[in-house]
Amino acid sequence: MYRNIFDTHAHYTSRWFRADRPELLSVLPWLGVEAVVDCGTDYDSTLQSIALAERYPWIYTAAGIHPESIIEEDASTNARFGGDWKAEMDAIRPLYSHPKVVAVGEVGLDYHWPVPKDAQLAMFEAHLQLALELDMPIIVHDREAHADTYALLAKYRPRGVVHCYSGSAEDAVRLVEQGMYIGFTGACTFKGAKRALKAIEAIPADRLLLETDCPYMAPTPHRGKRCDSSLIPFTAEVMARVKGMDVQQMLDITCANAARLFGVNI
Ligand SMILES: [Zn+2]
Repeated sequence: MYRNIFDTHAHYTSRWFRADRPELLSVLPWLGVEAVVDCGTDYDSTLQSIALAERYPWIYTAAGIHPESIIEEDASTNARFGGDWKAEMDAIRPLYSHPKVVAVGEVGLDYHWPVPKDAQLAMFEAHLQLALELDMPIIVHDREAHADTYALLAKYRPRGVVHCYSGSAEDAVRLVEQGMYIGFTGACTFKGAKRALKAIEAIPADRLLLETDCPYMAPTPHRGKRCDSSLIPFTAEVMARVKGMDVQQMLDITCANAARLFGVNI
């Protein structure tokens, strides 16, 4: 059995885990999972994530507002704060002093969905400033918004991770030089993931992170099913092959990387 699985990006507050969340989360360490950073996407999911982190020692929380929450009716950004994301950021702010909150996230830019650009740019910039002010790592979502995401990362130079990386190898190298880590999900096991493999090849192993983005992005051979942290070795296998390592070696290195970035003792 593998050990030292560190899932740097999960969404265990998702309704897809409603039926069996306690059963699943309570056995993770017995499946080789050392730690999970569960990402809030708004005020409510951040609170729910903190409740999980308080119950399970191996779960940590990232607190922040995802760009999609700006247009999601069910997100507390709208349901509770009436679209006033600044008020929601103010409400989240005291939570960063919670001992299990280890990052600002999940935040960033999403040009795939029709989220107003000016609002999401302003909200991402506010979270970048917050991460620097609090000296915390930032977990960045970049969907079809590479140029604007990279420009803001170059401007603020935070430490953190570009999660579910979908950019070029050249940009990955530049982001690493700026101090970022690069996270890969099960998507890099899919056929046609050549771009991700090139990025993995181009950057040093000590800047790679493994993640699920569960319940989404289950790696091959579980593609299309619900994902969880125990499936990470399938992603590690692809990464290890590119780097000429064995799977456990890759899990060990990425676990140490994540522990360093998030300040978690393993
Ligand atoms: Zn996510």
